Amino acid sequence: MSKDFIPAAKPLIGDAERDAVDGVLRSGMLAQGAEVTEFEQEFSRVLLDGRPTVAVNSGTAGLHLGLLAAGVGPGDEVIVPSFTFAATANAVALTGATPVFADIELTHYCLDPKHVAGLITERTKGIMPVHLYGHPANMPALQQLAEQHGLALYEDAAQAHGASLDGKPVGTFGTFAMFSLYPTKNMTSGEGGMVSTGDTEAEQALRLLRNQGMQRQYENELVGFNARMTNLHAAIGRVQLAKVGEWTKTRRANAQFLDRNLHGVGVPAVAEKAVHVYHQYTITVPEDRDGFAAALKEEYQVGSGVYYPVPNHRLPSFAREEDLPNTEQACNTVLSLPVHPSLDDEDRERIVTAVNTLAKAGA
Ligand SMILES: *Cc1c(COP(=O)(O)O)cnc(C)c1O
Repeated sequence: MSKDFIPAAKPLIGDAERDAVDGVLRSGMLAQGAEVTEFEQEFSRVLLDGRPTVAVNSGTAGLHLGLLAAGVGPGDEVIVPSFTFAATANAVALTGATPVFADIELTHYCLDPKHVAGLITERTKGIMPVHLYGHPANMPALQQLAEQHGLALYEDAAQAHGASLDGKPVGTFGTFAMFSLYPTKNMTSGEGGMVSTGDTEAEQALRLLRNQGMQRQYENELVGFNARMTNLHAAIGRVQLAKVGEWTKTRRANAQFLDRNLHGVGVPAVAEKAVHVYHQYTITVPEDRDGFAAALKEEYQVGSGVYYPVPNHRLPSFAREEDLPNTEQACNTVLSLPVHPSLDDEDRERIVTAVNTLAKAGA
């Protein structure tokens, strides 16, 4: 077979992004400035029903600064899923607080509120669900838990630009929420992150923390970082923001096609009233998932990805003894197929043929 390889993810960069960067280069105003302010305001308007946002130089920095702005620090515990990218728990640990790993439910791969409830102690400061793969976590149940115990909710919305629950966008539930703008996410600024918050004090703290604790130059009010986004990155992000709505429609149409046509593997479920934005389209392959992925690549030139093969609690950086059976099961069986907006009809057909043929052969 001599077909083109279909990658698992593909950032879409066009002439408009190149022109926007060139415009900033010609202006000479490269660091954080007017482009960043415009990007923040547009992001709020387009994705967050107007909730204010603060731009930073990565999603991880956004989580870290968001937690610091929310007052999380040494002695605190924050409950996070173990089935996520390491940045979620890293950000908690970097504040000096302790990430406490909870299990997920196997329908949407997000935090299991029942398991979370059993982990709450007098040290628990907050709960940080991840809207994994672009599917909203069970926010009503987590909100109820948080209210019952007087805890905060923080959202890792790195993968979920435009996702919503009952008409309410993700990123508007928590004290703060972080969206990543890494190249493989649903939209990109090159690298970058956006933090939304409805808390005016937290917003002010975020603006200080990203800029050495300064609002006015050389009048540093607190000890801060340089986590500023550049005008160059913001210019890319603004162009992408104008396109992400259409891309999401295409992702959702691709997912619907796969839902209808795949057989012999588990396809992703969507909760009632949830809008899933399919950062990943994740199937389950109960037997020999890794062999399945290798055959997809070698026999059909179809890329795929395993997010995530190792749970956070078993990474050498955390190395905790935990009993999280759903997390372990997900790590062994999930496989994400290409769902990105640049797939064409032939690509979609090839993915379906490949998966169905391999699933049948393995059955
Ligand atoms: C990508 C990602 C992050 C980190 O974002 P960066 O922009 O890469 O720093 C955090 N959490 C999750 C779930 C992610 O997918």
